[in-house]
Amino acid sequence: MQLSGRVDRIRESATLRVSRRALELRRQGVPVIDFGAGEPDFDSPAIAVEAARLALAQGFTRYTANNGIPELREALAERYRAAFGTPWTAADVLVTVGGKGALFESSLALFDDGTEVVLHTPAWVSFVEQIRFAGARPVEVPTSGADGFAIHAEPLVAALSERTRAVILNSPCNPTGGVISPAERRKVVEACAKRGIVVLSDETYERFAYDGFEPGSAASLAAEFPDTVAVIGSFSKTYAMTGWRLGYLLGPRELVDAAARIQSHATSNPTSFAMKGALAALVGAEADVVAMIAEYAARRDLLLARLARLPGIRCAAPRGAFYAFPDVSQRLTGDLATPTDFAERLLEEEAVAIVAGEAFGSDRHVRISFACSRQALTEGMDRIERFLARH
Ligand code: PLP
Repeated sequence: MQLSGRVDRIRESATLRVSRRALELRRQGVPVIDFGAGEPDFDSPAIAVEAARLALAQGFTRYTANNGIPELREALAERYRAAFGTPWTAADVLVTVGGKGALFESSLALFDDGTEVVLHTPAWVSFVEQIRFAGARPVEVPTSGADGFAIHAEPLVAALSERTRAVILNSPCNPTGGVISPAERRKVVEACAKRGIVVLSDETYERFAYDGFEPGSAASLAAEFPDTVAVIGSFSKTYAMTGWRLGYLLGPRELVDAAARIQSHATSNPTSFAMKGALAALVGAEADVVAMIAEYAARRDLLLARLARLPGIRCAAPRGAFYAFPDVSQRLTGDLATPTDFAERLLEEEAVAIVAGEAFGSDRHVRISFACSRQALTEGMDRIERFLARH
């Protein structure tokens, strides 16, 4: 079969590959500890489940408006207005099939062959693939574990060129847990605004912050830079609603309309009754979110304490998101030559799933998700200790 050149440019998501292998082993009866998936282990908020159930029972099962049900778009616009003073109305909101859908449609709407997109790395697996799929070239700006993978404006701005269409910010960052400060974010947005470049701010982990840190949002700059700032968000992580597949894009009307046009030929509206559940979560599940974040904070502390005990492994404390990104380079000797070797051997020998850093553009790190119970974290870290004692 002759597949398209477009599809040749992308690879399967490495994080999904790890999950698949972990699932395979589980099916064979192996008690796998899964630190691989970026997926909350909590149930979706009861209020969301109930609202979706009711919507189904009431026959809310037909096509909706392509860009999402108006009441959810209104609630999102209101949430951003109240939290960040944004000028966006429901017309500036597109509800999408996951945050992934919002990013994919934004990429197709903005990037052309021969254009460039600047992003900080290590980065979430899909950014680079989506940029390439849209025909553009990713321009990678490294962040460093030495300062907790902080995202700095200066190297991002220095990477801008006449071909740059967008800068992707992801704060808090998957996989590093690094963040950008409000002052640095403003510098990036100002520089992009001067050059007519869009800032796509992926704030999937906006609510996940630790040690009193307030991640803020690029949305707070939208009133000042309305043609520059676009925010992508998701119900997946904040509300433990991964399988519902709901995310959103808020930003310049031109971009939102273009992304909606693409959506109209790709998926059409996101699932009708799922949107009813998401609306209920957005307005009524704050207590669930606060409780979940407190639990993530406790898990993070537990994981960091255990990682600190591992000889030859250094880990910057993540400021946000729910991943630790330890540097294992000192342990990459003999049969563990690369992070991929490390991750594969760990899965096969100790049934612990993690993701090798190569997936995110690092040949020194591995990613450990702490979106799992404290018991699983303890058991998994016991196994990693045993594994390292042998290698
Ligand atoms: N952006 C980042 C940084 C992510 O880590 C993820 C999920 O892992 C997404 C976007 C997409 O999430 P979803 O499509 O489930 O909303």
